[in-house]
Amino acid sequence: AVGIRGLRKAFGGPAVLQGIDLDIPAGQFLAVVGRSGCGKSTLLRLIAGLEQPGGGSLTLRAGQDLLAPAAAVRLMFQEPRLLPWSSIGGNVEVGLPRGLAAAERAARARAALAEVGLAERAAEWPAVLSGGQKQRVALARALVSRPRLLALDEPLGALDALTRIGMQALVEAVWRAEGFTAVLVTHDVGEAVALADRVILLEQGRVAMDVPIDLPRPRRHGDAALAALEARI
Ligand code: ATP
Ligand code: MG
Repeated sequence: AVGIRGLRKAFGGPAVLQGIDLDIPAGQFLAVVGRSGCGKSTLLRLIAGLEQPGGGSLTLRAGQDLLAPAAAVRLMFQEPRLLPWSSIGGNVEVGLPRGLAAAERAARARAALAEVGLAERAAEWPAVLSGGQKQRVALARALVSRPRLLALDEPLGALDALTRIGMQALVEAVWRAEGFTAVLVTHDVGEAVALADRVILLEQGRVAMDVPIDLPRPRRHGDAALAALEARI
């Protein structure tokens, strides 16, 4: 679970985040939407421990235990950020902690690649993969360490529409199978509603809307709260 209280962040100028209060229960799939520049990536980087808060607090817990973001959170971005000089399996192994034997590293990487449908490709090079396949490798690299929280910053933003639908289904399947907490930043309210069980809108540095997505999922324009979300981004 993530507990965020009065979280503030500025980069010299006016504060980007001006007091975020947000509890993310363990296992929730939260989507964060909002206009470009509203601070979505900044919030995700704070959750992942890549930035330090300018004020307020942010804690990650498993039950009573405090977790270190570096060990508990993995990120996925719009670009897969694969190492071109390393094999596909080697790229997935990058996500593992140090100190594991080589055979175990390879076995875990293969298992993660199998989860994303690329079990047979471990020995090949990233350059031979399509954009969608590269994102599958990035997902395997994020999952291989079994994170408590997966932070997704527009991970499907660069994919064509069909590939994106396939990746949405894959992200949802691994989330259901693994039970991690997911925080997805997206410009696409339709994608947020398709995947998340809660959508928040960031505006002027605060959580301006907090919308639970009840099953069955509403259609993109079929629900007043979602239409209001779409109208504001
Ligand atoms: P987008 O949808 O375009 O990705 P975003 O909501 O993710 O936007 P952020 O990347 O979080 O927005 O940026 C929010 C604001 O903070 C922007 O004005 C940006 O210029 C500023 N900002 C973010 N990171 C830094 C940084 N490292 N140094 C200075 N300013 C930054
Ligand atoms: Mg961003």
